[in-house]
Amino acid sequence: MSKGTAWKWIDDHKDELAKVSDEVWGFAEYGLLEEKSSRLIASLLDKQGFKVKLGVAGMPTAIVAEWGVGKPIIGLMGEYDALPGISNKAVPRQEPIVPGGFGHGCGHNIHGTTAMSAAIALRYALKEDQATIRFYGTPAEENFQGKIFMVAAGLFNGVDACLSHHPGSLNVASLASSTATIHAKFSYHGKTAHAAANPEQGRSALDAVELMNVGVNYLREHIIQQARIHYVIEAGGGQPNVVPDYARSWYYVRAPEMDQLEHIYNRVVKIAEGAALMTETTLSVEMDRGSYNKIPSKTLSEVVTANMRMVGAPTYSSEELAFASEIARSFPKQNKLDTLKKSKMPGWERYTDTDLPTDVLDPWDDGETSSGSTDVSHVSWNTPTMEFGTTCNVLGAPGHSWQFVATSGSSIGHKSLIFAAKTMAGAAIDLITNPELIIKAKEEHMRRMGKNVYVPDTQRKPPLELAKQSAEKLGPKNYP
Ligand SMILES: [Zn+2]
Repeated sequence: MSKGTAWKWIDDHKDELAKVSDEVWGFAEYGLLEEKSSRLIASLLDKQGFKVKLGVAGMPTAIVAEWGVGKPIIGLMGEYDALPGISNKAVPRQEPIVPGGFGHGCGHNIHGTTAMSAAIALRYALKEDQATIRFYGTPAEENFQGKIFMVAAGLFNGVDACLSHHPGSLNVASLASSTATIHAKFSYHGKTAHAAANPEQGRSALDAVELMNVGVNYLREHIIQQARIHYVIEAGGGQPNVVPDYARSWYYVRAPEMDQLEHIYNRVVKIAEGAALMTETTLSVEMDRGSYNKIPSKTLSEVVTANMRMVGAPTYSSEELAFASEIARSFPKQNKLDTLKKSKMPGWERYTDTDLPTDVLDPWDDGETSSGSTDVSHVSWNTPTMEFGTTCNVLGAPGHSWQFVATSGSSIGHKSLIFAAKTMAGAAIDLITNPELIIKAKEEHMRRMGKNVYVPDTQRKPPLELAKQSAEKLGPKNYP
């Protein structure tokens, strides 16, 4: 077994692998409806001798594909969902394939293909009894957080380590966490009455919603700086001369750590109960854990970083650099500096003149929390997990943008894919051949988890109907 075998397989098949990425890019399917994308990836794994299950955890587009037997079990995760409204050709200017259509503005066409490519390459580099390679095709990262359902279905039980790759703006195995979020709906029930003739008989559910909001806004002064609370009023009555007997607000509460979040959320609930008491209404609360904070893994980050350096980050042709420069002209120059400065990256100044970084960075962000959230965090509470980034989106270009669609479908995206696939395969081989690395990763995982416990959400079901309805409203498909 050698990394050379895996890397040679990827190099020998790089055109075919790029074609898979481009096909998924072209399908540009909305989360939970990635039928063509998931079928393509599942069928290729099937041809390579993987035991493939398509349609797991109640999602027709979720995949578990396995090769090999025994321990360790290495999970490789791949996403393939697209985003609405940013369809674009693989050209460095805004030119939709279908106006208002879907596009891979987060590079998930590459995300899924990287893990698939690494999984197949490992199959050629390993003996069947050396390890279990398990590819997870995880739908709907962007909209319905497919991994939550896969974790709740127990599909990640017993996995020793999990790797995934996200195309980004830098080559780095980041250690930043992501914020934990709770979503909650507060419904109040009161009594209707004529608001002018019999106000004394009415009990206003809207009053309760308003008083709750006032209470929460006072709470803001006494919570940690990094926390966020935001709300909307979803229902607030029919017309002013009827005392509303029903009103509902929808809250998001965010904080860097789950225990901080729970502390704040519990206070929000007390305020909500207080509002019910004040107004003689009754309260019901529907809560779900939107996202957990991501548990980083320094051990896996080091393995991945070493492999990125061994493989060597891609460099770019003059055409590719011209493509990137044209993209860079489509957004304010300042973006680039701001993004890097905000990320607290040491030496960010050196990037002012380059749009596609070609160096491999040491992660600088252990203990930092990125503002975004991802369902990868749910997996990270169950097994040591590392999602690393490779250059693809032009530095400073916004995420979820036509610019990212364009590079994800270009040769810049292909280079990101091949580099990442080799890195992922190399890292998996290191984990398989050095059992002490997995022990170290697990010890670190336990240390970082502390007393926190993951509560799988077994009640929630994948909202397949909602996905269909939303997709129709959001825009036309990119294919007939
Ligand atoms: Zn993404």
